[in-house]
Amino acid sequence: MRAFKSVGGVPPFIKRAEGAYVWDVDGNQFIDFVGSWGPMILGHAHPEVINEVKKSANDGTSFGAPTKKEVILAEMIIDRVPGCDMLRLVNSGTEAAMSAVRLARGISGKDKIIKFAGCYHGHCDSFLIEAGSGALTLGVPNSPGVTRGTAQDTLLAEFNDIQTVQDLFKKYANQIAAVILEPVNGNTGCIPPEDQFLKNIRDLCSRHDALLIFDEVMTGFRIAKGGAAEYYSVIPDLFAFGKVIGGGFPIGAYGGRKELMEQVAPSGRVYQAGTLSGNPMAVTAGIETLKRLTHVEYENLENLGAYFEAQLQDLIDTYDYPVWQNRAGSMFSLFFHPGPVMNTQDVSKCDFDAFKHYFHTLLDHGIYTAPSQYEAGFISLSHTEEILNKAITQVHVALKDVFIPA
Ligand code: PMP
Repeated sequence: MRAFKSVGGVPPFIKRAEGAYVWDVDGNQFIDFVGSWGPMILGHAHPEVINEVKKSANDGTSFGAPTKKEVILAEMIIDRVPGCDMLRLVNSGTEAAMSAVRLARGISGKDKIIKFAGCYHGHCDSFLIEAGSGALTLGVPNSPGVTRGTAQDTLLAEFNDIQTVQDLFKKYANQIAAVILEPVNGNTGCIPPEDQFLKNIRDLCSRHDALLIFDEVMTGFRIAKGGAAEYYSVIPDLFAFGKVIGGGFPIGAYGGRKELMEQVAPSGRVYQAGTLSGNPMAVTAGIETLKRLTHVEYENLENLGAYFEAQLQDLIDTYDYPVWQNRAGSMFSLFFHPGPVMNTQDVSKCDFDAFKHYFHTLLDHGIYTAPSQYEAGFISLSHTEEILNKAITQVHVALKDVFIPA
């Protein structure tokens, strides 16, 4: 959410970004932990990525016809993600998740889906039921405008609570087309899955003939080269992607097992299309971004994440601050809650006034984080240890300001 409704004040209007930094129109510099909500995994304005995008723009900005580059990007994604054999490019994460669900319904002939409270899959009607991210921040997790008919086909489970999924399968036997979730729930803050949670969902889906959809818009190419499917060794039937695969340009993609994806038109009957899908500039930025994300770079990201977590934990332990942190690779959250924080209900019990105070103190000291407890932070490859140390110094200032007033 760009709005500052939950923390108050006026959001900085950003003029320019480079590496780990953004600058606002008033000339203030911030270390950026938002990273455009995830895409900027290399850091902002990577010179070679920008250069290739400029060249691509010179060749024309949209053709509405096949290009070699969209095939290259699709192949790069398929190569990296276990269980993804075939892919369709779209323009946003919203479209990707929406299309994956339509496909699941189209194939199965069943209407209902299970989603998890606090998970966000974009703003398609079916997903605006206890949605996370900005919807939670603004207090509209169930949006007006979603018809009752649509809402009743979305069943709600609790993240990290397999019993709630089991209960729904029991109650709605043979009516559930798919289970969709963020394998790491990054839209209610960063909440990793507990041990066996994803595997148990996988088993339940297989047993009840429902498709499992991983929404990897945030986790894809972020927490590992092959995303959450690789990281947690659980293979869904369908995937939704976005963010990193466009390197900061509008893009999305959905994919999965070949026999499922072949049901998408024109080879199959489930319709989906898009004028600007596979846009050459977005695809170029995606290729140039993924190209640079080698296994070594994922190790670097993991190390940077672990370094930041350890420094922060040191502060928390030394001063006995009543806060809790979660991390999955380069995604993280600091909750104003003594912990543990395992689902959106836990997040709702955070001290939001303390968060607001913390957020504004950080902003005043040149650190830009998401203006909501319900959002994750992102570390990029441009966040060197030196930059992270600078940030930790300011985090210390902000935590002291909240908990040890002068
Ligand atoms: N799924 C997830 C997991 C997301 O984090 C988001 C965006 N925050 C979306 C879907 C929607 O993507 P977009 O904003 O590109 O439509």
